[in-house]
Amino acid sequence: MDFELLAELLFPHIDKTPAEMEAIYPPRTLPEGAKVTRFAPSPTGFVHFGGMYQVMIDERLAHQSGGVLYLRIEDTDAKREVPGAAQSLIRTLAHYGVHFDEGAAIGEDGGIVGKGIYGPYKQSERAVIYQTYAKQLVREGKAYPVFSTPEELEKTLAADKKTENKTKDWEANAEEAKKEMLANRNFTIEQVKAELEAGHPFVLRVLADGDGEKKVHFTDLIKGNLELPENEEDFVLLKSDGIPTYHFAHAVDDHLMGTTHVIRGEEWLPSLPKHIQLFRYLGFRLPKYLHTAQVLRMDEEGNKKKLSKRDMGAKMEDYDAMGYPPESVIEYLMTLLNSNYEEWHAVNPTLPYTEFPFSVKKMSTSGCLFDFDKLNDVSKNVISLMPVEKVCADLTAWADAFDPDFAACLKADPAVTQAIFSIGRGGKKPRKDFANWKEAKNFVQFFFDPYYAIEEPVTEFSADEIKAVLEDYLASYDPEDDANGWFEKVKAVAEKNGYCTNMKEYKANPDGWKGSIGDVSTFIRVALTGRKNSPDLYTVIGILGAERACARIRAYENNL
Ligand code: GLU
Repeated sequence: MDFELLAELLFPHIDKTPAEMEAIYPPRTLPEGAKVTRFAPSPTGFVHFGGMYQVMIDERLAHQSGGVLYLRIEDTDAKREVPGAAQSLIRTLAHYGVHFDEGAAIGEDGGIVGKGIYGPYKQSERAVIYQTYAKQLVREGKAYPVFSTPEELEKTLAADKKTENKTKDWEANAEEAKKEMLANRNFTIEQVKAELEAGHPFVLRVLADGDGEKKVHFTDLIKGNLELPENEEDFVLLKSDGIPTYHFAHAVDDHLMGTTHVIRGEEWLPSLPKHIQLFRYLGFRLPKYLHTAQVLRMDEEGNKKKLSKRDMGAKMEDYDAMGYPPESVIEYLMTLLNSNYEEWHAVNPTLPYTEFPFSVKKMSTSGCLFDFDKLNDVSKNVISLMPVEKVCADLTAWADAFDPDFAACLKADPAVTQAIFSIGRGGKKPRKDFANWKEAKNFVQFFFDPYYAIEEPVTEFSADEIKAVLEDYLASYDPEDDANGWFEKVKAVAEKNGYCTNMKEYKANPDGWKGSIGDVSTFIRVALTGRKNSPDLYTVIGILGAERACARIRAYENNL
């Protein structure tokens, strides 16, 4: 077989050699030890929490070593592509503060552009590059075409659709496919000419040289030493439209773009022998691989399940809707990524996560468990340490997007909003009342008249008992009183009405009184806030203003 001629027949339009490509994309010059990583999502609609987990590893490894992190859009599967998805994932990553040094970005006209000299960074625009290497493989007798008539192609495409075009369709028909491939390995130049003249499309398959009975040995930086069967499948390199499969694009792109460390999901691990073979065929140096374990969740029965896209928290946009600050999600991710992060953070509470010595060795090999309770704990802490200006700005931005009525309340008087969120902020032990902006709204909404409602009525005392206390309270209330003066008056009201002001004494003999000072506070609290729990009452009154506070108490009494 004249492979040179075959290559020319199949790729007449390709006029560059791989060597010329290498000259266009020379190796990167980076300091010793600098790592080049990439995030390579397919634009299928959203960023998965597991993707965010991966991109954090990419980011830390690159930037911690003075290297490069770039973004590549893997849009070779047009059927699965969702319009606008690339833009939305770029925005999501930016929202989480992931900084790409290079790669796909949103251009001025809203389209995807490439920033950097190793582009295009969108695979659909790299067809000529892939075909240059494909042509070389044909020249070397390492790849061959398999023709099909348009009708056959139609049929395969339909079958692909059914199996969602997963590599599994090969496995399902392995025997059949193998026979076809072997037959296709023995064709003549005349046959190829005839097929091309008839206008029949072809896919390009690799000529597998592995033996499935033998093992390739390999070290994954997360999973450790592994053994996998050699590749013996003549897998597809180029589809009939000349667009590569994931395997081929991975080899060509990660080589030309100078990736040193490939971080990707463990679902790619079974394909690794294919990649090892391809890198060898192409004369490329194999990058280091880190296959990340799946993110798991606990189901109702206490079993670990994969965090699937239907689960709350699987899509990064879920966190926006619930109002988790991106800082909280990132902080939580860090705790999942490295088991010693929390300990470090406790010792260095004010340092950003970028100062943490992230280590691949401290990563879980078996799968990390996603847990909302833990996220909430982390987030409460993160929010409690935020300056009040940031809380107000971020909460308002969230409300603008997801709750415009509440946003209007927050914006009506910025000084009031700031006073509300200053409660319990600062100091050694800041309050940790809410984990996200939705909870923050719930926590403070009583301050705003449109949301004020009696959510937790007092049921242990009669209306007359409550009214008697509140009447005395209003009669003695003086807006000029300081916190102490105010509290002394509340105590006096309690005593006058038969409520014990000493909790110790009260507990020793609860039947000796109508109730305690705690009950008196509850009457006032429920009247002012609608709830039995709230921030410090004197502060609440200060924010509501004397007039509004008294009006609420009167309205409450009238409705009892
Ligand atoms: N586009 C692939 C995916 O979304 C990327 C895998 C990789 O990072 O190599 O699964």
